[in-house]
This record gives sequence, C-alpha cells and structure tokens, in this order.
Amino acid sequence: MSDIFFSKLWKTISKGMVWRGEICNQSKSGKLIWLDTTIIPSIDSTGKIVRYTAIRQNATERKLLETQLWAMNEMQRAILAGANYSIISTDTQGTIQTFNQAAEKMLGYPANEMIGEKTFLILHDPKEITKRAELLTQELKIPVQPGLEAIVAKARLKQEDENEWIYIRKDGTELPVKVSTTAIYDKNGILSGFLGISRDISESNRISKELIARKEEAIAASKTKSAFLANMSHEIRTPMNGIIGMTHLLLTETHESNNVEKLKIIQNCSVSLLELINDILDFSKLEAEKIELEMTPFSIHSVTLEMMELLKPRASEKGIQLVYQNADHPLSWITGDVTRFKQILTNLVANAIKFTESGSVEIFSTATHVAEKEWKIQFSVKDTGIGIPEDVKNKLFLPFSQVDASTTRRFGGSGLGLAISKGLCDKMGGTISVESEVGKGSTFSFTFNAPEAQPLNSTSDQNAFAGFDPEMGKKFPLRILIAEDNQTNQLVIKGLLGKIGYYPDLVSNGKEVLDILEKKKYDLVLMDCHMPDIDGFEATQQIIAKLGKSSCPMIFALSASKMKEDIDRCYASGMNGFLEKPIVIRSLIKVLFECSQKII
Ligand code: ADP
Repeated sequence: MSDIFFSKLWKTISKGMVWRGEICNQSKSGKLIWLDTTIIPSIDSTGKIVRYTAIRQNATERKLLETQLWAMNEMQRAILAGANYSIISTDTQGTIQTFNQAAEKMLGYPANEMIGEKTFLILHDPKEITKRAELLTQELKIPVQPGLEAIVAKARLKQEDENEWIYIRKDGTELPVKVSTTAIYDKNGILSGFLGISRDISESNRISKELIARKEEAIAASKTKSAFLANMSHEIRTPMNGIIGMTHLLLTETHESNNVEKLKIIQNCSVSLLELINDILDFSKLEAEKIELEMTPFSIHSVTLEMMELLKPRASEKGIQLVYQNADHPLSWITGDVTRFKQILTNLVANAIKFTESGSVEIFSTATHVAEKEWKIQFSVKDTGIGIPEDVKNKLFLPFSQVDASTTRRFGGSGLGLAISKGLCDKMGGTISVESEVGKGSTFSFTFNAPEAQPLNSTSDQNAFAGFDPEMGKKFPLRILIAEDNQTNQLVIKGLLGKIGYYPDLVSNGKEVLDILEKKKYDLVLMDCHMPDIDGFEATQQIIAKLGKSSCPMIFALSASKMKEDIDRCYASGMNGFLEKPIVIRSLIKVLFECSQKII
C-alpha cells in the first residue's frame, strides 16, 4: 500500500477522527490478506489522543469475489464492445436491455435510443413476426401468437435457435441477418429474458444470389448450345437424307461396276459423316443431361449377332476373325435400351477392328444374378491390336481424346465414341473400363444392370421383313400421303416406297394436307414436322380436330431432329409415331407393316 494511503490515514486519525478502510497485508507465506479495518482514536479530557483501537475483519474472500466480478464485468464489456456480431438482450417482455456497438453500427441506432424500447416494435416487420409465429405453430403443434410469444414458446423448449430474420434499420432499409436466440434464466430457473446474437448476411446473400444468377446463366447457355447443336444436326441431316437416300436408290438401279464403285464410296462417306453428326448430337445431349433411356424387351444375343453382321465386312477386309462367346450367359431376353446397348457395343467392336491389323476380335458376354429377376450383364471386347499405353488409358473416356495425333491421322475418328459410351454406361447404372498392353491388344469391358424379360414373339418385325419385298404394297396395301416441303426428300421417300410397291401422293405443306384430306381418304400420312405455313404439328392437331381420332389416318412424323422435346412434341400433337431422317428402309417397312395391321 502506498505512502499516500498511509499519510491520508494518519491525517484522519491524528485529527481524532475514526478511519474506515481496507488494509492489505502480506502474510509470512507471501499471500495477500485484506482486512476491513476501523481505527478509533481515544481522546482524554485535555483533548489529547491517548490510544488507537483497531477493529479488523478478514475481507480477503470478499475482495477476491469482487475482483472476479469486476473481471467478469470487464470481460462482458469487452465482448460486447469488440464483437462483430450485434448482441441485443431483452427482458421477457422484449424490452431491450443491452444493445452493443456492433448493433449500433449494423442498425444505425445509438444504444441509448434503443435501451428500454421493445425489439419487435422497432426492429422487425410485423408481417415477418406473423410468418414466424405460423412456422412455430407448425413446429410446436400449438398455436403461437404473433410477437413475443413466438420467442417465448421457443425459449420454453430451452432450444437454441438460428434463424434468418430481416431487421429494419433506423433509415428504414432492410438488413438480412442470421440470429441465434438464447433464453436467459434467473437463479430460480425462471425465464428472465432473451439474448439475440445476429450477423449480417447481406454479403453472403448477395454472393449466393450472384452464384444462382450465374448458374442460371450457365444453364441457359448450355440449353442454347444444345438447342444450337440439335438445330445444326437437323440442318445437316436433312441434306444427308437426300444424299444417302438417292445413293441408295441409284445403287439399286445402277449395274455398271465403275459407277457402283463410285456410288459405294459416296455411300460410305455419307454414312461416316452421319455417324459423326450423330456422335456430336449424342455428346451434346449427354452434356445437357437430355438422354432418356427407352426400356423395351430385347434379346441380347440377337442384337449382338445383328451388330456383328454389320461389322463383319470391315473385319473380313482386314482378315480379322470376329467371334462371339456367350457360353457363360444364361439369359437372353432383358428389358433395356436396345439402341444404346447396340451403340456402346458397336463402338467398342468397331474400335477393336479399327485398331487391329491381324488376329481376332472376340466378344464375351456374361450375366450374374444380382436380385430376383435382376441381372448384371458384362460385355468384353478383346482385340489383338496395337494396344494403349498405360498413361493415356484413363484419358480415353474423356471427350476428344485420342492416343496420339498420328493415330488420329492413320485411323480417323472424332474421339467422342468412348466418352459417349461412358456417359451411356453411367446412365444405365453401369461402368466401362479397359485393360491393355501395347503391341499385344486391349480388352474393353462394360457392365449394366437389367431385369430379365419374357421373350417376344418376333414375327411382327424381324422375321417378316428380313428381306426387301417389292410386292409388299400388294400384300399390305395402304393409301399413303407424304407431306414434305423439301423436294429432294420427297423424291427419296417416294423412291424408297416405290421399291416396295407403294405409290404415295405428295404435298408440300400443312395446308395442302388439310385440303387433300377433305377430298381423299388415306391410311397413313408421313408428315414432315417443319414446313412453311402450317407445320406438321399444327396440321396434325387440325386433322384430328376435323376428322376425330377414330376416322383419322395414322400420322407418323418425318423428322431429322431426334431430340426428346421434338419427339414428345410429335406425340403431344396427336401423331402415332416417329420416323427418323435419313429414313432407313427397315424402319419404314416396320411402320408400314404396323399400319397395315391396325387398319385391318
Ligand atoms: P474415335 O475412335 O472416334 O477416335 P473413341 O472415343 O472411340 O474415338 O476412341 C478414342 C481413342 O481411343 C482412339 O482414337 C484410340 O486412340 C483409342 N482406342 C480406342 N479403342 C481402342 C482399341 N481397341 N485399341 C487401341 N486404341 C483404342
């Protein structure tokens, strides 16, 4: 204790006055001892101080408590002052008791204006309070009055609660915050108030709004891109239809070997070009997540053999043996997307033939039972070709990747096939992988799960029309109308139908279809979707509205666009089916047969 302290003490008692205060002594062990001390001077009759009486009481414990209390208060003050969060406490009636500096900054009110006011009258929009009360009613399953009760009810459950609120600032602007509300209880466990700690989330809201906007922009851009690709592929497919169809017709009419050779080259080139266009379209659809699987029953072995028939000429040209091993495959009929299955397998087998100079390409298939009537099917395509270096194996399934540029020049290809196959396998819930050794060969394998299916009676499509019957028109007569604005396409489809004994009428827009149907009856209309004046969709709707569904001819769309939306649109307008351009004679025959069966 300082000299000043003692001199003051001495001044008091030497004047004969009583001194009261705290004196701090140090014990022998060095511990501080506080004493509540009263010093009383005794004065004799002459007024002289004769003695001092000191009354002391140990106050060390109290002093310690006081120090702790002070430290806690100081800490509380520092927290309130230093926190970046707005801290507001209220009593049970919502009357503000604490309003820290961050709250002043966030809300624009000085603390002295707020203390004693009610939070829900100043800081909250009444509509928001009502909304919260409703939410709470649902949560608690008891009615909660708007206003304070909402918080009280929550606090009664002793729950801590972080919610998004909108505070209203002094200037009237809104401030989105995340508030965590805690109930405060007195020493008897009775609710005495609430503490709300809030942080400003306007910035994170702004960022997430910006992110959402960017995501939406990206989705829109991707949609535009896939619409563009679909449109382009439609535009390219239409003239391709003309080239492929006309070449096909010329090949059936030409007998000069020189010209047949040239026509075959045109045919091969146009088929490759069409494959490329289809790859780009498929890839863009996978990217835009627009591929839908079409589940139908089919025989895995028949489809594989069919695919082999198509690829056999390529293999024989190189002297490569093409073999199918399916001894370990106990089932044949499954339900799945036959087109996509064929596409993956064709890609793997075509690659195997492409990258093999001699030896063999073997296809293995196995099926393992995974659940009741559910199978895991695996196909492997093993070749004795050039093989793939280890470091590029994993990149093969990424788009546009080829082993090296010289390979590309020697063998051609877009580098999309495996990326598409991977995308399709993923979609089918399966996997695709490769094992390979440079110079020895590669084995590509893919799996997918599928339920087993009942074998279908296949007389309707496959067997009845395996060949090309020029008398079909006589056996299954049909009155056919073609609505197509492109003259080349008109000639192609007319020519194709002529080959199998059908002689259709031709019109070139929707209006002409409606006019001719007033005068003449047809069994089948092959309708181009995109035509001037009245397009195929609208023409179909008008025909159905006019004639009624029962006396309406069958209407099949002819379209170069294979996007799902376009196919859906055909069905939505009332069409019975869809024929894809370039028209494949087999699909056309199938449609004609179906129609002839329906009109009997
Ligand atoms: P594309 O064959 O059209 O270029 P793919 O995606 O089908 O595209 O194949 C990508 C690349 O993978 C090929 O260019 C080739 O380098 C390599 N590849 C694919 N299959 C084989 C195979 N069986 N043997 C060797 N290399 C292969």
